[in-house]
Amino acid sequence: MEELTMQQIVAFCKSRGFVFPGSEIYGGFANTWDFGPLGVELKNNIKKAWWKTFVQEDANTYGVDAAILMNPRVWEASGHVQSFGDPKMDCKVCKQRFRADTLVENHSKNTVSAEAMTNEELEKYIEDHNIKCPNCGNKDWTQIRKFNPMFITSRQMVGDEKDVVYLRPETCQGEYINFQNIQRTMRAKVPFAIAQIGKSFRNEITPGNFLFRTVEFEQMELQNFCKAENSMETYDSYKQKALSFVKDVIGLDETKLRFHDHDKLAHYAKAACDIQYNFPMGWQELNGIHNRGEWDLSRHQEFSGKTMLYTDPFTNEKFLPNVVEYSIGADRLFLATLCNAYKTEKLDNDETRVVLKLKPYLAPFKVAVLPLQKNLGEKASEVYNSLIKHFMADYDEAGSIGKRYRRHDEIGTPFCVTVDFDTLEDNSVTIRDRDTMKQERVKIAELVNYITKKLEA
Ligand code: ATP
Repeated sequence: MEELTMQQIVAFCKSRGFVFPGSEIYGGFANTWDFGPLGVELKNNIKKAWWKTFVQEDANTYGVDAAILMNPRVWEASGHVQSFGDPKMDCKVCKQRFRADTLVENHSKNTVSAEAMTNEELEKYIEDHNIKCPNCGNKDWTQIRKFNPMFITSRQMVGDEKDVVYLRPETCQGEYINFQNIQRTMRAKVPFAIAQIGKSFRNEITPGNFLFRTVEFEQMELQNFCKAENSMETYDSYKQKALSFVKDVIGLDETKLRFHDHDKLAHYAKAACDIQYNFPMGWQELNGIHNRGEWDLSRHQEFSGKTMLYTDPFTNEKFLPNVVEYSIGADRLFLATLCNAYKTEKLDNDETRVVLKLKPYLAPFKVAVLPLQKNLGEKASEVYNSLIKHFMADYDEAGSIGKRYRRHDEIGTPFCVTVDFDTLEDNSVTIRDRDTMKQERVKIAELVNYITKKLEA
């Protein structure tokens, strides 16, 4: 079977109402995308599955939905304001932007510590070692410039005065700053976790590859607060849970998933790894798991002047919990899910069909109602109207029944219900399974139960 390309996925998403280019009628707006009717459903179902696995099914995890706009001091504590000075340079040929220190470190295979180098030293090293653009292979660099990784907006004050406000580049700060609120109100005992799903905004240096790296995206992540001596055990258990989520709940092929330990750790981190997925452009990060020590709470304690200490209710010991973070992009997982589910199959009659083999509970439509002929519309509408109270359903009467089956195979609808002339007599319908293409006769009164059971499987 031919390898799936990113262009195919982009075209499929656009033509089937999953994802459209952002601001398309104005010529687009680079690296922004709008989710269409089917895309919204799939993404919501992915988010629901994540929340169910990590919040609903874990008694020690609490949800939060923090504000996107936060006190700018938060971003001083997190280190983002400081990193405004990261040394960036552009390739004049392909216009991609890179961190100069990363170029040096990669070229030297980490034998040179670029962190301590001045901009002039970095430029000289790049020149002397003839370091070329990793994207296009040319060597035509701009000078090193500062680049701001955060989007800046402002709050209008009196007159012309304005306060700088940042669009959050990560959601996790909302959990750290609410650590005490949530611990107190939920009477939570360490170890416990705070989870959030929400938008983040990053002025990415090299966005691209469709939804893989965009400037606005959703994160699904949690921060587990634990004792230092238990943090590695917690880290290991999230590695396994994160893998089992993408494999068993989302359905990604095991052969396309692997762990990747970080070569370089932040100075405060005890361990860090990614789960990578084999996307059409190769192995890339799908999610991250980090053992961050006490860095985050200690920074907020320092910058806010408020205590972040936790008192053990049994021993009265006061300590700063360690943080283990698990974070996955909803849009990036959406892309992996589509790439993984998109299959072209050869049928017995030598025809081919495209079928989106999504887990039934992730599918945009759970069921499609198809009258065999238009004059069965009244009965079919009755069936459709009873099903939409329970499931996202579609009603489709255009074209031959075969074409309608193919249309729904392609968008992943797990069940097609056909209303035929016998239905008028026996109040039964034919229900066809997307994957096996087998058909069964089911009483209309039994349909909701039948589909519900299959969705739980
Ligand atoms: P990367 O190395 O790919 O830039 P990161 O290490 O900066 O990612 P984190 O800050 O750990 O990523 O964010 C957690 C998750 O959020 C990532 O694993 C990814 O799934 C998602 N993510 C991060 N940046 C983007 C982006 N620009 N567009 C889409 N998803 C993103």
